[in-house]
Amino acid sequence: MKGIQKKGKVIFVGAGPGDPELLTLKAAKYLKKAEVILTDRLVSDQILQEYANDSAEILYVGKQCRKGNSTSQETINELMCYYAGSGKLVVRLKGGDVSIFSNILDELNTLVNNNIPYEIIPGITAAIGAAAYTGIPLTARNYSTAIRFLTYYKSDIVNDSYWRELANTEDTLVFYMSVETLDLVVAKLISNNISSEKKMAVVEQATTPNQKIYTCGLYEYEYELKKQNFISPSLVIIGKVVSLHEKFAWIKESLQHHEYFNKTEDNYSTVKKTIRA
Ligand code: SAH
Repeated sequence: MKGIQKKGKVIFVGAGPGDPELLTLKAAKYLKKAEVILTDRLVSDQILQEYANDSAEILYVGKQCRKGNSTSQETINELMCYYAGSGKLVVRLKGGDVSIFSNILDELNTLVNNNIPYEIIPGITAAIGAAAYTGIPLTARNYSTAIRFLTYYKSDIVNDSYWRELANTEDTLVFYMSVETLDLVVAKLISNNISSEKKMAVVEQATTPNQKIYTCGLYEYEYELKKQNFISPSLVIIGKVVSLHEKFAWIKESLQHHEYFNKTEDNYSTVKKTIRA
């Protein structure tokens, strides 16, 4: 009699923006069950320590590690296929939400093409975490009626007429992966006459114990924040709602100013078991 072959599966899981308690119950359940976990850089080590099964193989497949041990998308795709293909339950753990500015499309295509089943478990995206933990309600009545999640990481994705639109909309703008291009973002909005009533906030390491927020008017950026070196990851919120932070901030910022997500060789050992791809 032929034995029943165990069928592998990949579960995409959003780990939330940093605070381990922002993990969903479903994410925690799958982390406990997973035999293999492929994790990104922007995932709290504490989540792996507390929720991953002791026997799980945890592979760090972060993309922008400064130590240069970046894993290519191709390798990540191969690892998912290899483990799921050999019958394992694989969790593909991503920071924030799995579908916001992540390479999920590539990974989904790979799984569909290889006939590998999957599930998608959402997570709290950085914008929502940062908004909550800084007391900035993103669509506060009379301030804004919509939110746009944007990135200016690759400058050619925003053309001139779109900048005009962005400068003049009442929508709250949230820029991911754009701290390095922030001078340009501010310059573009100013050259398109953004209202001086709108303010900007840069939120570093939102929802982690090292969260820090910097705010100023866009026209004050030049001399207030331009020289600041923001710690990664940082998110930019622009709009009238930013002024609400002053009144509704509820977290006392710690004086810690180091990198929360700093996954180096040294703290690999803090993760239960890490095998490098
Ligand atoms: N999938 C993620 C986003 C990945 S892109 C999500 O849904 O949140 C990476 C960018 O997200 C970073 O450059 C930064 O702009 C933002 N980001 C992620 N985590 C963050 C955090 N804890 N604080 C501030 N920004 C964060």
